[in-house]
Amino acid sequence: MTLEIKERILKEIDEFELTAQKFLNKEINVKEFKGYSGGFGSYAERGGETFMLRLRMNQGIVTKDKLAFVSEVIKKFGIEHIHFTTCQTIQLHNLNLEEVVYIMKNALEHDIICRGGGGDYPRNVMTTPLSGLSQDETFDVLPYAKATSEYLVSVMFDFKLPRKLKVAFSNDNKDEVHAAFRDLGFIAKDNAKFDVYCAGGLGMNPKLGVKVLEDLEPNRVLYAVKAMIDTFLENGNYQNRSKARSRYMQDTLGINGLVEVFNQKFNSIQEDLMLNFDEPMIYNKKEVYSGDWRVIPQKQDGFYTVVIHPIVGDVTPLEFLTLNEIIDDDLASELRIGPEQTIYLTNVEEANLEEVLAKTDFGAHTIFETSVSCVGATVCQVGIRDSKNTLGSAIEKLADKNYSFNTLPRIHISGCPSSCGTNQIGRIGFQGSTKIIDLKPHAAFQMTFDGNDRLHEAKFGKVLGVILADEIVNFLGELGDMVEESKMGFDEWVDINQSKFFSLVEKYVG
Ligand code: SF4
Repeated sequence: MTLEIKERILKEIDEFELTAQKFLNKEINVKEFKGYSGGFGSYAERGGETFMLRLRMNQGIVTKDKLAFVSEVIKKFGIEHIHFTTCQTIQLHNLNLEEVVYIMKNALEHDIICRGGGGDYPRNVMTTPLSGLSQDETFDVLPYAKATSEYLVSVMFDFKLPRKLKVAFSNDNKDEVHAAFRDLGFIAKDNAKFDVYCAGGLGMNPKLGVKVLEDLEPNRVLYAVKAMIDTFLENGNYQNRSKARSRYMQDTLGINGLVEVFNQKFNSIQEDLMLNFDEPMIYNKKEVYSGDWRVIPQKQDGFYTVVIHPIVGDVTPLEFLTLNEIIDDDLASELRIGPEQTIYLTNVEEANLEEVLAKTDFGAHTIFETSVSCVGATVCQVGIRDSKNTLGSAIEKLADKNYSFNTLPRIHISGCPSSCGTNQIGRIGFQGSTKIIDLKPHAAFQMTFDGNDRLHEAKFGKVLGVILADEIVNFLGELGDMVEESKMGFDEWVDINQSKFFSLVEKYVG
């Protein structure tokens, strides 16, 4: 971030404070404030008196310095609600205005930019969390993701996008960052090049991305970024916000038209945007399993990553401070956030593994407990349903059953069609909805089945019907009992017991 950009952002934060004060004084309404504040990475929470602040963590990496800063403000302001998001950021909740302004301003000193964390801006550039570390990656995409992030921050004030722009880099075919269905995504290939996808995304009317470039030289990634911006600026919908996300260009331009326009833009860029990195090293891929799902052996000999999945994406202040202490004591080198809200402590030496595992045993212990949830409607103003507590209470109530590790699947749950909990790609997904019974509306979730985010297999879950929110735990309990009895994991069980599964679903959504 240049000094000029930093000074600009600091000035804007002063304006933000004045506008937020007007909102608190009820001189501007919720909708107007949301339209304004999102661009600062902050939204008013339900109830209208507190705020959420989203701290962009470039590529999902929380360095020692960033972690120490966030820990310091958690202690200083007694922040209780800390949430890791599916966009690899940290959200702090239940803040007053003074706290928001303090954090926004001081975060800049630690290279944490909240500006553009929401609203119609290029967002945090997402990256496979273990890029550069994992033994099964194609190549390390971090340098390209970092350069893209720096480029986007340097130009984000130069134009007005129709809506947000999400960019992701995947270092392998698993594509856990969903590069194949973001506004723009890069997938590393075995030939040391990228395939480039654009105009995909979840939310209302989700769409898989369109492959617009094949075998892009990695040093030319910024040309693709600029081509996407130019395509979106020219063809995005500025009249209707609900149709303004880049994926709607697939409808307006057609798939072939989109590929053509993108390539025209790509080929006509005059600026020199060439990067200057050495050709990426193709790693001799190996799937390595340590025997414990919380321990991943890295490609760096003798180093491991420790996995923690905070239940419903939240950690307590004490747990956050423990993570900071581990890194401060050099037991691990940095924290990385995954798109499924999993957090990773990297570069742990074998001698320190036991200690780090013991100190961080506060997260999930089964696949089901690694389920993904957005913050939900008790906090989020646009939410319809309380996704987080629906999932949280199901996890709590089913804990007594002591199911085996893989009895229930990871579920993905969102409080509304914005799909921040990535419900469409879950094997089982839930999205906030309403069920009418005897002419009365009841809190409910639309259930989907068989979503998949893997490259070349990606598909959105099929809608099965609508289940009452209160019944989700019963549904999962009955499902768990059946699967547990079979002594199989859910994935194996459901493949050979589809009729039993759909009968159970019918009982709850019928
Ligand atoms: S999915 Fe809906 S409820 Fe959940 S965080 Fe996103 S906007 Fe809010």
